[in-house]
Amino acid sequence: MNEIYARERLVFFCRMLYDRRITVSAGGNMSVRISDSEILITPSGVNKGLLEPEDLVKMNLKGEVLAGGKPSIEHRFHLALYNMNPGTRAVIHCHPLYCTALAVKGCGIRSNLTPEGVLLLGDVPEIPYFTPGSEELVRAVASCGGSPAMIMARHGALTQGRSLEEAYDRMEELEFQAHLQIICGDAEDLPPDEIAKLGAMRK
Ligand SMILES: [Zn+2]
Repeated sequence: MNEIYARERLVFFCRMLYDRRITVSAGGNMSVRISDSEILITPSGVNKGLLEPEDLVKMNLKGEVLAGGKPSIEHRFHLALYNMNPGTRAVIHCHPLYCTALAVKGCGIRSNLTPEGVLLLGDVPEIPYFTPGSEELVRAVASCGGSPAMIMARHGALTQGRSLEEAYDRMEELEFQAHLQIICGDAEDLPPDEIAKLGAMRK
């Protein structure tokens, strides 16, 4: 993806996440792949509603900063996902309120309440709590690195996608499903045969 366009798109999606309250203040970090070996990632400690294209940090997949300032403290799990998954073009990590509420309670996210949950998310693993920025957290994320979406205990949520739009849609859907789960309480999942049918339709 052209770097100038990628900078504008990543800032656009950061503002969408912020405007829709999927992330607040400087929380979370987002990145996009611009070539086989390079990404753009949000800088450390900047409010996601106030980011400008020139604020983004360019890195290679070895973890070297090529342009810009200090990358997000969580850049290593972004790099791990890009290195593991050549098809991943975008990674979004943030602290959406309802996802984080379930992550704090440790009750997991159910994604089989509605067809969209099955289609966009599939099963959502929950990784254990580790200190932000730690090597243990990178390893825990990598252990679920094949999943399009995951919950991070006592912390937040993480999605990846074949485009920025896909990673964004998965995060928005994940937060919707978390909110739905909290509202619906103990509602039953879709029937197993319907979940299997929808799973086979997943792109
Ligand atoms: Zn975080």
